[in-house]
Amino acid sequence: MSTKEKKYKWRREDYQEQTRGLLMVHTGNGKGKTTCALGLMMRAAGRGLKCCMVQFMKSRNDRYGEHESAELLGIEVHTMGDGFTWDTKNPDQDIKTARETWELCVGKLRSRDYDMLVFDELVYVLSYKMLPVEVVVEELKAIRKDQPALHIVVTGRDAPPELIEIADLVTEMTEIKHPFTAGIRAQQGIEF
Ligand code: ATP
Ligand code: MG
Repeated sequence: MSTKEKKYKWRREDYQEQTRGLLMVHTGNGKGKTTCALGLMMRAAGRGLKCCMVQFMKSRNDRYGEHESAELLGIEVHTMGDGFTWDTKNPDQDIKTARETWELCVGKLRSRDYDMLVFDELVYVLSYKMLPVEVVVEELKAIRKDQPALHIVVTGRDAPPELIEIADLVTEMTEIKHPFTAGIRAQQGIEF
């Protein structure tokens, strides 16, 4: 039994036997998709689950509040992007980076090392056709068959129907009000 299993009083085999892995999709135009995924990982880490988040789009050169907190909680975070498309204005590079980031996700999925994997803004990349949705859906289906206890969370606006179809949980964040409309810019601790 590993130190972690002792601390959290479970055996990995028992945990996996009792767990039905979920595919969760956070979509919609309102705020809260990424923060909800972070909240889930915080809860899961408190139960000793091994969590990892891969962030598409967000710039690998920036450091966000979640990077600092994740480190404290033993949550792995890989921020892989070059920035959002309206900042980069280089579609070929965006596609190349999206594909490389997906390769990292595939590596994490197939490693069997994790209990919860979050692919932040993967949906954005799909809706902008930087990655073919069929490729992602086929990979997720195969992994879920092979590792039925693995929880997978994906976030981003405009989730395609093919992804919604295979998900267990889909939440659409609806914008009722957002401070941005009142001219309040992104603030540290709230947006990054
Ligand atoms: P958060 O990371 O705060 O949970 P999100 O993941 O739901 O937000 P994204 O679509 O990933 O939102 O948006 C990227 C950035 O745009 C975030 O900093 C977010 O706060 C901001 N944002 C989200 N929704 C809106 C909105 N309706 N209007 C303006 N900005 C928004
Ligand atoms: Mg987000």
